Amino acid sequence: MNSDLLNELKEAGVKLVAVSKTIPEEIILDLYHLGHLDFGENKVQELVRKYENLPKDIKWHMIGHLQKNKVKYIAAFVQMIHSVDSFELLEVIQKEAQKYGRIIDILLEVRIAREMTKYGLDKTGLYLLLDKYTKGDFNHVRICGLMGMASFTADETIIHQEFGLLSEFFIDIKSAYFPFAYYFNEISMGMSSDYQIAIQHGATMVRIGSLIFGARNQALKN
Ligand SMILES: *Cc1c(COP(=O)(O)O)cnc(C)c1O
Repeated sequence: MNSDLLNELKEAGVKLVAVSKTIPEEIILDLYHLGHLDFGENKVQELVRKYENLPKDIKWHMIGHLQKNKVKYIAAFVQMIHSVDSFELLEVIQKEAQKYGRIIDILLEVRIAREMTKYGLDKTGLYLLLDKYTKGDFNHVRICGLMGMASFTADETIIHQEFGLLSEFFIDIKSAYFPFAYYFNEISMGMSSDYQIAIQHGATMVRIGSLIFGARNQALKN
């Protein structure tokens, strides 16, 4: 584990989610034994397998696209779902969390990248979801903030614009919907290639994989 990275994030007051997708359990354990507890996965099946095989005090973050019919597999243990991108998904999380008597922390995934990406709410969808949420009774989910991914580009100007946009959404939404909610305080943005830019724009959590674990196997990469 890169201790420069850890120090840098600590100084910035930013939480690290170590993205362990495709990474073998023994290697996750090495990091766990150094005291790191927050790990992120993007596939339900792999997340469940690792949860079952690894120490139970690991905090598992679901960071990839989540299908409604798979929420039930992770609802009992997931620490935070970063990738909520529809009202219907929010409803399913509420229902599944209720079964376990849990309150599940979630982030709303916002599409900030100008490149065509499949997932994430656009501005209209984001505010529509929040309007519906405030009219409902979501006592088993807690919206803790926003998540976003910048374009995959070498042009840092674009990355600055996109993370800046997410940060503006966060401020608007906090004042409009969560002015007194202490828990609405997370902006999950920044990966190996762009986390420093994300921190400049107020990221509170970064999701870093390859910089910690090395490049993933190309065939498994996603
Ligand atoms: C894989 C992944 C990351 C980490 O990417 P790296 O470039 O390896 O740091 C972060 N967020 C999401 C949603 C991912 O799928």
